[in-house]
Amino acid sequence: MAAQQSSDIVIVGGGIVGSALAYFLLSFDDRKKVTVVERNLSGFEGSTGYAPPGFVGQFNESEVLTRLAIDSVGEYLKVPGGFDHVGGLEVATSAAGLENLKWRLETAKDRGLEAELISAEKAADMAPDLVKDDNVSALYFPSDGTANPPTIASFFRSEARARGAEIIQAEVTEISRSDGRVNGAMTSSGFINAQTVILATGIWARNLCNFDIPFPIIPVAHPYMYGERHETKPYKSPFVRYPEHHVYARDHGSFFGLGSYDHRPLPETPKTSAHGSWVKDFDKTLDRALKLIPGKTNLVPKEKFNGIFSMTPDNMPLVGEIPGTEGLYIAAAVWVTHAAGSAKFLSQMIKGEPIDATVQKALDPSRFMGRDIGSLERESLHCYNSIYSTYEGS
Ligand SMILES: Cc1cc2nc3c(=O)[nH]c(=O)nc-3n(C[C@H](O)[C@H](O)[C@H](O)COP(=O)(O)OP(=O)(O)OC[C@H]3O[C@@H](n4cnc5c(N)ncnc54)[C@H](O)[C@@H]3O)c2cc1C
Repeated sequence: MAAQQSSDIVIVGGGIVGSALAYFLLSFDDRKKVTVVERNLSGFEGSTGYAPPGFVGQFNESEVLTRLAIDSVGEYLKVPGGFDHVGGLEVATSAAGLENLKWRLETAKDRGLEAELISAEKAADMAPDLVKDDNVSALYFPSDGTANPPTIASFFRSEARARGAEIIQAEVTEISRSDGRVNGAMTSSGFINAQTVILATGIWARNLCNFDIPFPIIPVAHPYMYGERHETKPYKSPFVRYPEHHVYARDHGSFFGLGSYDHRPLPETPKTSAHGSWVKDFDKTLDRALKLIPGKTNLVPKEKFNGIFSMTPDNMPLVGEIPGTEGLYIAAAVWVTHAAGSAKFLSQMIKGEPIDATVQKALDPSRFMGRDIGSLERESLHCYNSIYSTYEGS
């Protein structure tokens, strides 16, 4: 790359969100020059590369997130190998859990999502390796499924490249601004002039956000494990969640996976990867979670890891324009579940196309303005244990 170049739009970060942004910004006959700057193009070292659960649960207490998830699934289905319609099961283990499922059933139906309350026996039949038959009930979402985030991000990248996007490997070190507007990005390979810059830097979002408003995008540790390999079963289990226990499990084909939010929230300071060090206490977390799995499955950790993703004080992403600097945008704390829908929404905003005001307000990056960052960080961490009440990813 030359020491100085120019682009109409620079996207910082080439995970699923940055790649989807390039794809949607260049859809149809758009002839803008779009450059994605990603510091490591040899793989996906951000959360996109360490999200093997890949669950896309479309129903969410937030109607905005439900819509973004439905939109995302529509896009992922166009990606070869990108999405598997295995369905999602939420298992209740108590009467209170069942009441919650009933509410979710009615609200999901109101939003046009197919859902069915099924017996504990039927749930155990659908996922015999992951669900015991002595639970109370379960809620089944047939249109949910599992996404393959690296496959989807690679698809968006190569489609964007085919439409003219330049995708370069470099580290962005600073966002350049003058007279209230952005004018480019300084990278490890030189300066790129641009009138529009989008930060899609995931758990590293705050590194470049030294602006005058708070950005409570808090990276946190999360345990996930794989069991031993087994003969591939003649059936594929739906993705299973135990909301009251903050636990989920998935069928990876020739092995099972399991993760849990049932531990003290742990903030992380990520280095250059979303793969963190294993936390000793996570062993106890996994032991507790494994008690929900039928004994005959003999699920024991063969491999376990700590994957890092972002939390926010309201469990909603930050997607939109950063106030005070014209032309500067952010799309961060976006789950795979909402990535394509969020990227499409932001690309419409940037192109000046009509956008939904409700979505804009809900995702507005300036919604925490005037708040103290310390308490926002605490609220974000607090949300980790209530992910199942507001966020319906894995
Ligand atoms: C263990 C685990 C399980 C998960 N399970 C699910 C799930 O089941 N369902 C779901 O919906 N979501 C899940 N997620 C969350 C999901 O993976 C993330 O929300 C999503 O991948 C974020 O995508 P992104 O593109 O914003 O970020 P990333 O994938 O992190 O991409 C950001 C990119 O920016 C680059 N970058 C950062 N700073 C710079 C810089 N200064 N210069 C150049 N490049 C830079 C990084 O290298 C990185 O590639 C999970 C995450 C983890 C870790």
